[in-house]
Amino acid sequence: MTIFIFDDLFIKSMKVFKFGGASVKDADAVKNVGTILKRFENEEILVVVSAMGKSTNGLELLTKAYFEQDKKKSEIFSDIKKFHDEIISNLLSQTQSHAFDDIENLFIELECLLEAKPDKSFDYHYDQIVSYGEIFSSRIISTYLNEAGIKNRWLEAQNFISTDNTYREGKINWELTSDKISKTLKPILQKKLVITQGFIGRSNENATVTLGREGSDYSAAIFAYGLDAESVTIWKDVAGVMNADPKMFSDAVKLNALSYTKAIEMAYYGATVIHPKTIQPLQSKNIPLFVKSFLQPNEDGTLVSNDNVQEESIPTYIVKQNQMLISISSKDFSFIAEENLSKIFAAFSKHGIKMNLMQNSAISFSACVNFEEMKCQSLTEELQNTYDVTRNSDLELVTITNYDNKTIEKLLEGKMLLLEQKTRSSLQLVLE
Ligand code: ASP
Ligand code: MG
Repeated sequence: MTIFIFDDLFIKSMKVFKFGGASVKDADAVKNVGTILKRFENEEILVVVSAMGKSTNGLELLTKAYFEQDKKKSEIFSDIKKFHDEIISNLLSQTQSHAFDDIENLFIELECLLEAKPDKSFDYHYDQIVSYGEIFSSRIISTYLNEAGIKNRWLEAQNFISTDNTYREGKINWELTSDKISKTLKPILQKKLVITQGFIGRSNENATVTLGREGSDYSAAIFAYGLDAESVTIWKDVAGVMNADPKMFSDAVKLNALSYTKAIEMAYYGATVIHPKTIQPLQSKNIPLFVKSFLQPNEDGTLVSNDNVQEESIPTYIVKQNQMLISISSKDFSFIAEENLSKIFAAFSKHGIKMNLMQNSAISFSACVNFEEMKCQSLTEELQNTYDVTRNSDLELVTITNYDNKTIEKLLEGKMLLLEQKTRSSLQLVLE
């Protein structure tokens, strides 16, 4: 029995910290990361960082310009470099010129990459370019921390996170990934603080792959899974997970505790505070997740853990914007039953469209989806061969739990309700 307890303590001694773009958006923010890490000096910690500020958006523009061989390419590249140079000059001492050279070389590397003509898919090139955001960021942060006396080792996440070749949305090879993390990363972490990147991995074609926008949370969860970590902390610019977006609901409050199940639902339906894929790997190993403010690191934040957690029974409102409602009915008077439904689902899957909500009747099928212009257009064209298709765009999908009628009435004011779905615990509305 005692051995088991010791064993358990030994295995679960590591913590994973994830610092997102906002927490490393400028030199002061990076210094604040150092201050937080100093408080955990004697613990075994893996730090997963995102690209600085909004630099991923800039790199996306760069990729587009590169792929289209647009002249704007060099201008965008310079802007990205300038943004990082400014942080570097406010953060690193000039005396450490090798550190400067080191980071400068990464920019040269990217510049060289941009010189070759694109010869593969857009998504492939996207990953080779956009991933530099995390590389720059982690390099700069690691160098700064070492200078500030927080000794650490910089490691490439690609050496641990293995995926298939779905560029821009790499699917994790869990067996290989957890094997590499536990065999290679764990022993290093037992000796030293490690700084690595979120969002990126390596594909089975040996190229860089990204895990989907905002995927650094997911990376933190993947590492925690492989390490059997004691906990994951996502450091944010908000106090924790709120019951609603404070920008839309002025009376939004922080939730102190949340079950994994509820957190998955909230993230899936649009709460942007946690990436939707983050929770399941943690849930499967019962690893608690803390969402805390990097501005008030002493505050409790939100604890996401197993279903026994004491959740407050207050309503939560999740609003997902930029939704499209696609309604499909048959041209030949056939019912929308199994045969038609299976054709419709196949078309959605083929065009890579995610359904957030669906509803069917005898003669029609409706789905509320994230609006992505190109994908939605090609799906519509295919469906129109067989069906009548109507589309409403620029909609909101609102998901409410613990709902009460008064707030729903308020939500509906001035809006048109296009679709409604109710379960015992949640209500979903598609609003125009
Ligand atoms: N830098 C990536 C993004 O902005 C990944 C992340 O921040 O989680 O999407
Ligand atoms: Mg980000």
